[in-house]
Amino acid sequence: MSATLHNPKRLTREQAQGLLDRHGIAPTEQRLEIARLLFARHQHLSAEQILAQLSRQASRVSKATVYNTLKLFAETGLVREVIIDSTKRFYDSNPDPHHHLFHTDSGRLEDVAPAQVKISDLPGLSSAVEVLGVDVVIRVGPRRPQ
Ligand SMILES: [Zn+2]
Repeated sequence: MSATLHNPKRLTREQAQGLLDRHGIAPTEQRLEIARLLFARHQHLSAEQILAQLSRQASRVSKATVYNTLKLFAETGLVREVIIDSTKRFYDSNPDPHHHLFHTDSGRLEDVAPAQVKISDLPGLSSAVEVLGVDVVIRVGPRRPQ
């Protein structure tokens, strides 16, 4: 996304509008606000982090709107949901296929290039289905003393 070179903090309104248009999402003010923030660069943000950043910018977007908008973005494929566990869900602005490394001590999520993970075997599948994607989350923590 070359836009990040011009404004590291937020997309322009026009860029955000273009993104929503390409995914068939009606561009309400709140959706544009959230898209401008989330797609400013490749990042992983939780709904709470987005809400906190929006309130710092004095944007009037309710918690329910943030959750509903992120759900819509995920359903339309605009954003990818990365679910670590029932309490940790991130929204990923990187649209390219990739895996993740999750640091359990800091809560940081890092991208891992697909070529860095080799999956040598998959369970036998019925002929009625095909693999659409494999998402790997590698959970790491500080090494324990031996
Ligand atoms: Zn990612």
